[in-house]
Amino acid sequence: MPLPGILCPTRQTASQRDSPKAWPTWPALSMQTGKAKRIKAMETIHVNSSCDEAFIHAVENESGENVSLCYQCGNCTAGCPYTDFYDIPVSQIMRLVQMGQRETVLSCRSIWLCATCESCTTRCPNNIDVATVMDVLRHMARRAGKNPEPQVKTFCDSFLASVKRHGRVFEAGLMASYMTKTGRILTDADLAPKVLPKGKLGFTPHNIVGKKEITEIFQRYNAEKNS
Ligand code: SF4
Ligand code: SF4
Repeated sequence: MPLPGILCPTRQTASQRDSPKAWPTWPALSMQTGKAKRIKAMETIHVNSSCDEAFIHAVENESGENVSLCYQCGNCTAGCPYTDFYDIPVSQIMRLVQMGQRETVLSCRSIWLCATCESCTTRCPNNIDVATVMDVLRHMARRAGKNPEPQVKTFCDSFLASVKRHGRVFEAGLMASYMTKTGRILTDADLAPKVLPKGKLGFTPHNIVGKKEITEIFQRYNAEKNS
């Protein structure tokens, strides 16, 4: 799921941006973390002893993509707007999937930070839907109880709960839910004066005409998940 700019869980507040000493910028923090993790990802992997074949098949089945087609050209990483913030670049994730490195892949932060922009998909010379692979990996991590970016998961859960209830997202309700659960009370508060006059932030929910159908989609999903 993309992270809408207005409520990006990793976005800084105005006070954080204005006080770089007291609040190190999020990109700076992430790049430091990413560098450390990338070195770890470059450690020698003993494929024969650690390759999880079932994981490779599961990713291919769920995504409908043949990950073995990836020949590591790096085009996806070159076009990914989040590469600087990832702990493992998307092309390396593809390689790790090919090598059946389940634990490394499902524990990484990148799959949670992916914005599903699909730049990687459009750039892949082998027509691999890389964005869908990332989406599948995020779902797998979720099912496995791995969540290195809890705020992103909280945002996604609040977003989906809002869509389930109203048929579309109710921005003010989403903000209230996200802020309450994370304690990030001032997140994006500086944007309010800009979006309120433009009518982009309603204070009452608007239910859509097809709300019943949306509810049925959620019910079908829950039924399949529990079957
Ligand atoms: S969809 Fe692809 S290019 Fe876009 S953020 Fe995710 S990995 Fe990067
Ligand atoms: S663009 Fe396609 S072939 Fe190239 S590294 Fe990415 S997934 Fe692999």
